[in-house]
Amino acid sequence: MTTSAHQKMWEELNLDIPAHDGLLAVLGKFYNDIYLSQSGRLKGMEYLDFVLSEVHGLRIKELQDAKAAGRKIIGTFCVFVPEELTLAAGAVHVGLCSGAEVGSDKAEQLVPRNTCALIKSFIGFKLARLCPFTESCDLVIGETTCDGKKKAYEAFADHVNMEVLEVPQRKTASDRALWKSEVIRYKAVLEELTGNTITEEKLQAAIKLVNEKRRALQRLNRLRHADPAPISGRDALLINQVSMYDDPVRFTQSINTLCDQIEERIAAGEGVVPAGTPRLLLSGCPMAVPNWKLPFIVESSGAVIVGEESCIGSRNTRDLVSEEATSMDAMIDALVDRYLQIDCACFTPNDERQDNLKTMVNDLKADGVLHYSLMFCQPYEHEALKTEKTMHQEQVPVLSISTDYSMEDVEQLKTRIEAFIEMVS
Ligand code: SF4
Ligand code: SF4
Repeated sequence: MTTSAHQKMWEELNLDIPAHDGLLAVLGKFYNDIYLSQSGRLKGMEYLDFVLSEVHGLRIKELQDAKAAGRKIIGTFCVFVPEELTLAAGAVHVGLCSGAEVGSDKAEQLVPRNTCALIKSFIGFKLARLCPFTESCDLVIGETTCDGKKKAYEAFADHVNMEVLEVPQRKTASDRALWKSEVIRYKAVLEELTGNTITEEKLQAAIKLVNEKRRALQRLNRLRHADPAPISGRDALLINQVSMYDDPVRFTQSINTLCDQIEERIAAGEGVVPAGTPRLLLSGCPMAVPNWKLPFIVESSGAVIVGEESCIGSRNTRDLVSEEATSMDAMIDALVDRYLQIDCACFTPNDERQDNLKTMVNDLKADGVLHYSLMFCQPYEHEALKTEKTMHQEQVPVLSISTDYSMEDVEQLKTRIEAFIEMVS
């Protein structure tokens, strides 16, 4: 696809072309510095580089082609929205990235200044007309997770066609019943939007498809138990980010091919860093594309990230939907149960997250935990304190970082992270 063909498509999507060109230039440079400068990358990462280079190009063209063929595009901000139902309705499911500091001044006309960077980002991308994914969506699905998102969606709904799913705050029987009714409502919303009936066969196939994607990511996560680390944390994060918007069949095949290469690397005793390099587990808020700041600082300071306890990471891939059910009601139950296992900090209590963290630290042989919260994110800032307590009990060093998408604190973060790495070494 030529650049001029991209331009025409972007114009048709009503993007602000000069500002969008500027954004792509900055992102390209950022990607070169953070990703392409790495040594010892796996050949399979070329696929991810290509996908990222065409994130606003070929992938958007695919979405336009899908629309022309009558398919609907569903945008989401949270791993609580069941992708299986979207796919079973014949629609395309895309995560809307929200990982860059874009259009903050405009966003602050809709939400308070002390709102997390992720929320400001998705509003900023829309108001500044910079995101071809958002502009391609027929419907955006929000969810009642944190208060910041809930209230932001009220304002955002004036700018996009949206539905909000009610996610409970606890996991009791009545919460489960509420969540089940919302999953059923989402199914009805999709059927009405697409004009397609979600049959048992279609849902069964979609459950298998999404499980396969999660299995490929689980395989990748297991391979990261090896020392020396066979893949950088930056590359693993990129894979998880791309999983949110790439075609699921193509993505799964590519990740399995990459895992074959990682297995060969492990068998040869090779890694992306020398054996004994300090291993850190990153835990906390999701890092949406192109939020690569922290992993870059960590990995250019002498450590390697071996896991992401995050929604753009293991929180989204750990649990599969049971494939045993065949009736519609049983499959809905299987979806409800799987999604209620998500240990988001928006739940109270949320002790399972601490248990899952301990398991990850042990499995990955992590030397320390870096807890990451976006500034003004109440749920994860609270759980940072809880995580510190758990890790102190486990005698695992932990460092809590609260930051945003700006580059202003890079030097300060680098100083703190270098000192932490020296301590865990
Ligand atoms: S952290 Fe919570 S609100 Fe955010 S994407 Fe994950 S589940 Fe959704
Ligand atoms: S990072 Fe925190 S405050 Fe921001 S949307 Fe996610 S849960 Fe809400």
